Amino acid sequence: MNGFDGKTAVVTGAASGIGRASAQRLAAEGANVVVADVDADGGEETVDLIADAGGDATFVEVDVSNLESVERMVDVAVDTYGSLDFAHNNAGILTGFDEVTDIEEDQWDRLLDINLKGVWACLKAELPVMEEQGSGAIVNTASEAGLVGMGGLANYSASKHGVVGLTKTVALEYATRGVRVNAIAPGPTKTNIQSGMAGGSDPSTLPFDTSAMADVPMDRHADPEEMAGAVAFLCSEAASYITGHTLPVDGGQAAD
Ligand code: NAD
Repeated sequence: MNGFDGKTAVVTGAASGIGRASAQRLAAEGANVVVADVDADGGEETVDLIADAGGDATFVEVDVSNLESVERMVDVAVDTYGSLDFAHNNAGILTGFDEVTDIEEDQWDRLLDINLKGVWACLKAELPVMEEQGSGAIVNTASEAGLVGMGGLANYSASKHGVVGLTKTVALEYATRGVRVNAIAPGPTKTNIQSGMAGGSDPSTLPFDTSAMADVPMDRHADPEEMAGAVAFLCSEAASYITGHTLPVDGGQAAD
């Protein structure tokens, strides 16, 4: 355990999946957590799960594609808990599998607005607070599709390559300003995004071969908690000399 007592974390996309697991993990390690999502019911459920486990969390409704909404989210974190030490910029969507010429303009715009502009908006709102404090650690959620091309995922892959580039660039800009900026690149993880691809079944019971990204050397899906462990590590003092890095958490996929 990393000992995050007294620290404050914001996690976007925390109403389910990887974001929920990350919020639960950071809270279990002692951080106060702002659970941020467009999905209020799921977000409140995450807050209840954290409270039931003895942690402290607050829900904020946010649309990460809207800068004003993201600025409000950061204000709530600072007003409620007095600081912003960690941010997991994680909210993201997949609009389906389509060849590049079949992607509609609104599909392209919606996905890029949430997956890429959303991370930029979070960084823009979070960084000034962290710089003023003189410390902070940010983890963005990219994807294996941000490291290699994946057929049928042109808009998703473009957005996640963008997240990797944004992570490197902002890490350089803030390298001497007390803020570390990294990313995780999850492989196929048992969440609604994967079950959506498999027709909407319960993500915890997903058969592995339904994944469009099933070429994983470890031959299984990840559990969301395995992403949360990497996020906690990148936020922790154990990662104090790591910035600008995208960490594949992918059962060996990136090594193949
Ligand atoms: P998920 O669908 O369970 O979680 C995504 C969350 O983001 C949801 O709670 C959703 O309500 C929220 N969200 C969507 N649009 C939003 C918006 N505009 N503002 C705020 N919140 C919004 O799926 P997940 O797999 O946990 O996804 C989390 C992240 O992990 C995403 O960025 C996704 O691209 C990435 N990822 C997932 C996988 C996978 O296999 N599950 C693999 C690689 C990367």
